[in-house]
Amino acid sequence: MIKQNLQKLKENIPTHVSLVAVSKTKPISAIQEAYDAGQRDFGENKIQEMASKHEDLPKDIRWHMIGHVQTNKVKYMASFVHLIHGVDSLKLLKEINKQAKKHDRVINCLLQARIAVEETKFGMPFSEIKALLNSDELLELQNIKIVGLMGMASFTSDKEQVINEFSLLSKHFKTLKTFNFTNFQLSTLSMGMSADYKLAIEQGSTMIRVGSAIFGLRNYIS
Ligand SMILES: *Cc1c(COP(=O)(O)O)cnc(C)c1O
Repeated sequence: MIKQNLQKLKENIPTHVSLVAVSKTKPISAIQEAYDAGQRDFGENKIQEMASKHEDLPKDIRWHMIGHVQTNKVKYMASFVHLIHGVDSLKLLKEINKQAKKHDRVINCLLQARIAVEETKFGMPFSEIKALLNSDELLELQNIKIVGLMGMASFTSDKEQVINEFSLLSKHFKTLKTFNFTNFQLSTLSMGMSADYKLAIEQGSTMIRVGSAIFGLRNYIS
């Protein structure tokens, strides 16, 4: 089923949009099946779960951290993580920079924007994102690179609401994209999940994070 789901998805998304297969809570065997079907980008929302899967699976997998990142856990993924989607503070960026430096690498990061009306969603208001991108402190961080923005729309059946939230994020992304500084060059807009990736792509997404439409429903909410 996983292989067919992937194939169907690929047929539905334009080639400029990359697909992160969200494998959180799913076993190694499921990830291996997707890998065998050609999938290389996988997303997890818990650092330790991702680190242990990284150990057990082929090393050419690109691991995406899509969940909320606790500062004290960055060290467990610093040697291998491909892209951190949920960066929401300068403090976290500094820790990522510090850990990346230990491994002599540059870690790509997305800033998470708060676009949903719900209080529970993580992310920064656009004013904070702009302030961070303009800050002198950012220039000192040589081992991180901000490559784009990430956002999650409200969990609602109101299509208009979701479209408006994606459209707002896309508008800010397009503006910020025109800037080009040493450690940021925005090219990735990570938005869209199983339920709303089509709307997200219509609004300019370049990277979608899809879990249940590939691997089936998860047995718990996470
Ligand atoms: C779980 C998760 C997804 C994937 O959700 P699906 O509805 O299963 O596609 C995408 N993004 C984030 C941040 C997630 O936590």
